[in-house]
Amino acid sequence: MKREDVQKLDQQDELSSYKKEFYTSPGTYYMDGNSLGLLSKRAEETLLTSLQDWKQHAIDGWTEGRQPWYYMSETIGSLTAPLIGAKAKEVINTGSITTNIHQLSATFYKPKGNKTKIIADELNFPSDIYALKSQLKLHGYQPDEHLIQVQSRDGRTLSEEDIIEAMNEEVALLLLPSVLYRSGQLLDIKRITEAAHHHNIIVGFDLAHSIGALPHQLHAWGVDFAVWCTYKYLNSGPGGTGGLFVHEKHLGRAPGLAGWFSSSKDKQFDMNHELTPADSAGAFQIGTPHILSSAPLLGSLEIFQEAGIERIRSKSLQLTQLLMRLIEEDLAPYDFVIANPREDARRGGHVSLVHPEAASICKALKNEGVIPDFRAPNVIRLAPIALYVSFEDVYDVVCKIKDIMKNNKQQQFSNQRGTIA
Ligand SMILES: *Cc1c(COP(=O)(O)O)cnc(C)c1O
Repeated sequence: MKREDVQKLDQQDELSSYKKEFYTSPGTYYMDGNSLGLLSKRAEETLLTSLQDWKQHAIDGWTEGRQPWYYMSETIGSLTAPLIGAKAKEVINTGSITTNIHQLSATFYKPKGNKTKIIADELNFPSDIYALKSQLKLHGYQPDEHLIQVQSRDGRTLSEEDIIEAMNEEVALLLLPSVLYRSGQLLDIKRITEAAHHHNIIVGFDLAHSIGALPHQLHAWGVDFAVWCTYKYLNSGPGGTGGLFVHEKHLGRAPGLAGWFSSSKDKQFDMNHELTPADSAGAFQIGTPHILSSAPLLGSLEIFQEAGIERIRSKSLQLTQLLMRLIEEDLAPYDFVIANPREDARRGGHVSLVHPEAASICKALKNEGVIPDFRAPNVIRLAPIALYVSFEDVYDVVCKIKDIMKNNKQQQFSNQRGTIA
């Protein structure tokens, strides 16, 4: 493929105008938006508005600010809902993935008789597994016996058949990633949910690597709950406040971990010792919302609303297709293995490249202005983010990888990971 062909794709790209809304640095190719999304001017502006509200209104910022803090978690929830196919009341901006897993396990994991087990998988991000194990221990169960971690056949992907095979009447809860963080595999959420409900298993999904990258239909699929972070594809900034979804059929249920922000909003300031939980997903908040870590989302989600998640997904698929094609055409002699599934319906927003020298190649790439992401022991993740990566950027990135490999530039660097990798 030639540069001119790729430039043509940029000319036809309906989303190309969004790139200038983000702070990109000249001469760098940011391929790590699946770990920390870039700052947009709109997110910066809504963060500054919240600071201004504090400066100007002090305590009255809760209700009188231009972006009233008291309702911000709900407002962001309703802006997030279209990205996941949810009703506004099913979504709230709160916590982090890990604290939200704790909250929703405390709410939905109700072991009874023989129905005590939890299904997860052996490839998930460690924090999800730590949370599930500690929840089991809180109930007095040994994780060795009660946590079923579905095994991978190839060390990279999961088979939906194997997941369904693991289901039985002894399983109370299931928690899986929508998109696997290393291989980028997208699981069939609808199929897994239906199969689990057949055994009365409560179904939760972790959308860390799919929210903001692709559309979902959580309400229609009947998923019981979901959690996500917002600092990856949703560009909320480091430690940005996460979110959760609880299906309408469960609303009205008391939160497993209660706090005063679980309250129905009009009752909260009665200061009563009997909690009246909100009849929305707001019931699963605990304490005072992290306003300054949420405010950037007001601006960021406006971009998603305008651009539309279907268009974002469609460009993202084109970008990852192009990336895979160029890797195959131009990097054939260099032992890279594309580790993500190739079918559109089975992959998320990043390409996962396996190479024995992955760590040193990532360092060489950074040295040349390409920001990839390394996951030990041998995975390079490249995420061409639809809102701020162009087709020509993808072309340049592959040229740079080729140049490194051709000239053995990676050998100047040790093949060890850094502290944050
Ligand atoms: C990023 C990520 C996390 C991080 O959890 P936090 O509580 O937000 O720090 C957890 N799980 C998965 C699958 C992730 O990708």
